Amino acid sequence: MTGIIGHEKLRQALRNIAGMQEPPHALLLAGPGRTGRTQLVLELATLFNCEASDMEQRPCDKCRACRLIAQGNHPDVLCIEPGDSFCRGGGGHQPHPNSRDIRICQVRGLIESVSRYPFEGRCRVMVIEPADRMGLEAANTLLKTLEEPPPATVIVLITAAPESLLETIRSRCRILNVTLVPSQTIADGLRERGFPAELAERAAVEARRRPADALAFAEQPDLMDDRGRLLERCSELAGSRTAERMSYAGDLAERWRRDRELVLTELEIWETFWESFLWQSAAEPEASSDALEGLRAVTEARRDLEAQVVARMALELMLLRFPTVRLADEVSSESSRNENER
Ligand SMILES: [Zn+2]
Ligand SMILES: [Zn+2]
Repeated sequence: MTGIIGHEKLRQALRNIAGMQEPPHALLLAGPGRTGRTQLVLELATLFNCEASDMEQRPCDKCRACRLIAQGNHPDVLCIEPGDSFCRGGGGHQPHPNSRDIRICQVRGLIESVSRYPFEGRCRVMVIEPADRMGLEAANTLLKTLEEPPPATVIVLITAAPESLLETIRSRCRILNVTLVPSQTIADGLRERGFPAELAERAAVEARRRPADALAFAEQPDLMDDRGRLLERCSELAGSRTAERMSYAGDLAERWRRDRELVLTELEIWETFWESFLWQSAAEPEASSDALEGLRAVTEARRDLEAQVVARMALELMLLRFPTVRLADEVSSESSRNENER
């Protein structure tokens, strides 16, 4: 069974693209995280490269290409993410396995390996996720590749904040919107995968229409409590006054001294919070610019922390930059534009 829950229309669109004589050189998958975006791209890669001759039978899940892609080992499916994948190092270049952005050295490394090695499948798929973590230099390097795309290659950018990519990059991509998935579809999907009905319902509700979270919650129900509590806290702080925010920033800075991973995880929760806000308020320009400002503040705090700026300053600045907002309650958001699958 595929790992994807929901996204019927989008999967059909990807199937159509895979069947094209000349597929687009670049795709932009725009939509909130934890919805199965990466799985969708991998499915596209199997549709391109599966050895079954009839498109209707792809993916067959049995041939070499299907198996290698499922294992993450196919030589023509290349993914860069924050860290140092594809970074060649050398020449005084410090390794950066824990970096939280996508750097120019990685984009260069990716392009180099594409030009150096012949490919074995029908179509190479290069994935950049999350594309909004590319700095300006990295983005400009990628832009040059998009202007002269390598043959039989599809570059896929994945992002929750397409607005933050360079317009020159966006305009070269076929944009595909990834929507949130209705809770009922998620609950059905979990039941089909053998989870008990009650757990499936609860995980589907707690996951706020994100199937990847729902799967994680169904497998590890404890996660629901922690995450729910943290998101609740974000929501309170986003609506609170400066004094409360500063005291929270102080706590975070204190924790940074003891456990950096914990703080970085909490920054990721903040990102999820602002992303939710972005997708709930997509029709209201003021609210989406608030959400983008929130996302940018998180990105910059992360960069400052990496650059060894005093943690307290970096975190206070982040909290000060967060706009004051109130999340629409779940009831009204259930009818937002992301509910178009059913
Ligand atoms: Zn196959
Ligand atoms: Zn590097």
